[in-house]
Amino acid sequence: MGSVDATYALAYGSSAVLALALGAYVLLRRERHVLTVTLTVYLVANGLWSSAELAALWLGPVRGRLVSGLILPAVAVVVAACWALVQGVRDVTWRPGRRTLAVLAAHPVLVLVAGVTDAWHHWVLDADGAGYAWLFWVHTAYSYGVVTLCVVMLLVARRSASAPQRRRIATLLLASSLPVVGNVITIATLGPDAHDLTPVFFLAAAVVFSWAVLRQGLLDVVPVARAHVLEMLGDAVLVTDETGRLADVNAAARRLLAQVGVEAVVGRPGAMVLGPVAGALLGASGRHACDVGTSRLVLDVRRTELVDRRGRALGAVVVARDVTGESEREEQLATANAALHAHLETIERLRADVAEQAVRDAMTGLHNRRHLDDVFPVLLDRCDADGVPLSVVLVDVDHFKAVNDDHGHAVGDRMLVAVGRALAIGLEPDEVLVRYGGEEFVVLLPGAARDVARVRAEALRRGCADAVVDVRGGTLAVTASAGVATSCERWATPSALLDAADAALYAAKRGGRDRTVVAGTGHVRLPRPSLPSDAPRASTAR
Ligand code: GH3
Ligand code: MG
Ligand code: MG
Repeated sequence: MGSVDATYALAYGSSAVLALALGAYVLLRRERHVLTVTLTVYLVANGLWSSAELAALWLGPVRGRLVSGLILPAVAVVVAACWALVQGVRDVTWRPGRRTLAVLAAHPVLVLVAGVTDAWHHWVLDADGAGYAWLFWVHTAYSYGVVTLCVVMLLVARRSASAPQRRRIATLLLASSLPVVGNVITIATLGPDAHDLTPVFFLAAAVVFSWAVLRQGLLDVVPVARAHVLEMLGDAVLVTDETGRLADVNAAARRLLAQVGVEAVVGRPGAMVLGPVAGALLGASGRHACDVGTSRLVLDVRRTELVDRRGRALGAVVVARDVTGESEREEQLATANAALHAHLETIERLRADVAEQAVRDAMTGLHNRRHLDDVFPVLLDRCDADGVPLSVVLVDVDHFKAVNDDHGHAVGDRMLVAVGRALAIGLEPDEVLVRYGGEEFVVLLPGAARDVARVRAEALRRGCADAVVDVRGGTLAVTASAGVATSCERWATPSALLDAADAALYAAKRGGRDRTVVAGTGHVRLPRPSLPSDAPRASTAR
């Protein structure tokens, strides 16, 4: 063996050892991932190839037979494994089906059978063993075709891959192209008996693969699984770099973008390629409504800024979910809620109306006696608390029965309405006017002492004369009498005050009507004993 042969022997030997050792390492990891299995096959076939070349150095003339019998099937296995490896790197979910396996196995099996039986048909090598025959060239063309396809597939996959994945693909490209270079040189320059350079280049390829396995985590299941999880996520995930370019896009994001007619081009500025959803996907976290053609898309976007250990911006991860349906349901719910609130407001208004009607007198529109029962104790307590008096004025229309008798009830009704209006004129907001019953009215004057109340009562009573009603042949007016009582120790309850005012009114009627009498001024005689507070208080006959 010459020095050249010794160099080849060293190259073949170390290539075989390295390839087989790497194959064993991969195998011992016991990961049943398609990449692991394929890579093992690839490395072992490489090892066999190099071993066969090493053996050929000693066997010399028999090399031709080795080429056909052992080396070519090993090459065919390498080619098939290379194809499978590329599929696994392109798509972590890739699994070869039975048909794919059959197609992949066909080439090595065919070459093996043809090589072993070559002595009879010489399809692989010439009859004299000095040159290649047609089947060798078919095998070579097929192998190159597959390897070229692999390279193209890797280049395409690299375009949309994440940064770490790109580095792995670059390594694979380098590793795959090295043996091809060696093979091209060998076939172009030498015959079957010459030394094949390809395995030497495989040594370099094996070194690159070692790098990929040991440093780039080519076989690490975790990054593969993480990439797989990201890819399988239902939420759209986009990664942008610090300049706003798309660095990675998962399958859900690609689907979302396809839905709005956008093709996610990794490496291009997001603002330029994300079309109608750019504002939403590159904006702040939260809900964003996007107009897409004639339809509307609502996206729930969560944005996380990425920084390195020193706090420098690296880019951002954007997770987006299509919540259009959810948002529409929420809007419908909000509409239904608003309608419900409107109904409740109507109901509340109606209830308030009913409550108001219950304390109103239908004919005059004034408050009624029930209202007086409600407010009188409250007002009296407040006046007591404030240390001020409260005066009660009881007004009764004089000879009202005669109005009915002479002009009819309708005129009587109109007269009562007119008297009510006349009494309401000039009342302060905190003063209370009620139709007490029939043609009697009560006015509460909080804070009015006896003298003030007398003046106010007189004015109120006189004001009734202004209530003029048209009757056949002219107009009709009435006079009224008033009884006044002011709270004091003696008349400290609503009923006591009303009784006192009623007694004063009685005195006014007896005194000739059309006048005011104030209780406690001498000529008012109270009925004894006074009525209980809840007993009906009929007006004394006048
Ligand atoms: P006096 O000066 O003593 O008060 O005499 P009066 O006729 O005003 O008193 P009386 O109690 O004898 O009569 C009150 C009348 O008021 C009797 C009743 O028919 C009439 N009246 C009560 N309520 C109404 C009403 O709502 N409409 C009409 N038109 N008349 C009413
Ligand atoms: Mg009366
Ligand atoms: Mg009367």
